Formats: sequence, C-alpha cells, structure tokens
Amino acid sequence: CGIVGYVGAQPALDVVIAGLRRLEYRGYDSAGVAVQVQGSDGQWSLATDKRAGKLANLEKSLAETPLPGGTTGIGHTRWATHGGPTDANAHPHLDDAARVAVVHNGIIENFAQLRAELAERGHTLRSETDTEVVAHLLGEVYEGDLAEAMRAVCRRLDGAFTLVAVHADAPDVVVGARRNSPLVVGRGEGENFLASDVAAFIAHTREAIELGQDQVVELRRDGVTVTNFDGTPADVREYHVDWDASA
Ligand code: GLU
Repeated sequence: CGIVGYVGAQPALDVVIAGLRRLEYRGYDSAGVAVQVQGSDGQWSLATDKRAGKLANLEKSLAETPLPGGTTGIGHTRWATHGGPTDANAHPHLDDAARVAVVHNGIIENFAQLRAELAERGHTLRSETDTEVVAHLLGEVYEGDLAEAMRAVCRRLDGAFTLVAVHADAPDVVVGARRNSPLVVGRGEGENFLASDVAAFIAHTREAIELGQDQVVELRRDGVTVTNFDGTPADVREYHVDWDASA
C-alpha cells in the first residue's frame, strides 16, 4: 500500500518511518522496515522488523528491540490481498539467506506458479503472500548488480507491482520497479528517496522523477539510473513538486 526507500547519510529508519507516517492516510493493516547494517567485522547484513497492526505496533517493537543503525533502508505499509494481516505476511520479505529484502504494492498474478517452482528448487516459503516469490527470485538471479537482477525478475512477473528492494551485498543501493502501480523518486543532495507517493519525502526534497511503465530505478547516494525492463535507458520525467505539503 505505502512504500518508502532511502539511501543517504541520515539514519534510514527515521526517514523511512516518518515517510510511512505520511502515507498512513491510505489505510493499511501491517508495517515493516529493513535496513542495511555493517558489523564491526565490516560485513554487511540486513536487519528487519515487521508487525501486523498500526505503525505504532512496529515503533513499539523497535523501541523495545532497536535495530542497528544504517543509512540505507526500505519500509512498507501493507493492505493485504494474499494472506491475512499477520507478522509473517507483513513486508519486507526475505530470501532464504536473508540477503535480499523486498516490499511490494499490488498483486503478482502468476505467484502460485512461481511459488511452486521455487519450492521445487528447495526454497522455503515463509509467508502466504504473492510478494515473497520476488525475494527468492532476486536472491537466485543476483550476480552483483541488483538493478539487473530486478529487471530479470520483473520480466517473469505478471500483474501490477511497485517493488523496492535492498541486498546485503550491495551497500548504499536501493532498487525499485513499477508496472501498473506508482513509484516516484525524490532527488536530494547526497541522498535519494523512493516512494509510492511524493508525500513520503516532501519534507526532504521537491525534486522528483515519476517512473514510467515497466521501468527499473537504481538509487545511490549520488545518482539515480532509470532503465526499461530490457535494460535500455529510459526517458525520465523530472518535475518540481509545488503543492503545499502541509495541506
Ligand atoms: N499483494 C501484496 C500482499 O498481499 C501487497 C499488498 C499491498 O499492496 O500492500 O502482501
């Protein structure tokens, strides 16, 4: 339902939760976040928390058991379509190795087929969602370029989706994709944002890019790259958001 992604220098969880708060008006039944964290040994991993119920439930959980800090993260408020509103069905969803985290708006129509194929290949599906297949597929096809992996996975999906993902092996990178569902980039100075609605990042920047149909975006601190699902460079529509955010 609501999606936020952030890469920059600020604490990602603060930016993401505040963004989700701005999208609450859309209605939702669960909320979750994932952040890239670097251990004292230099190794990167993903830390996640997700809860059924209001954003306040997630915030309570984060207050009781704080996640390590990081400056790249994603968040989601869910309006369940496949699988009831439970902690397990809340987004983000992870692959078996917990190296990829994915949030999703919309419906992946061919998920049953993809779930069956993944189970056959030895994956363990931990939720009842249509979304989880994307995390496993990204984990399978990832070879060092998350945007390329996202394009390959999107070419196998039917339906409507906004997808946003992070990979533990791709620090300071957030990737998004869209088909029949909105996704907007917010461009900052040394930081960039992704959201299902500009309201999520308007407090930080008003320079936006609206993603077109069947496009993938790679977000880094200092750059935004948009391609079509086949990898060709996409025409991007940059614009200035001039409506009053406080309204
Ligand atoms: N179809 C997905 C689910 O049920 C995403 C729902 C949404 O758009 O929030 O988990």
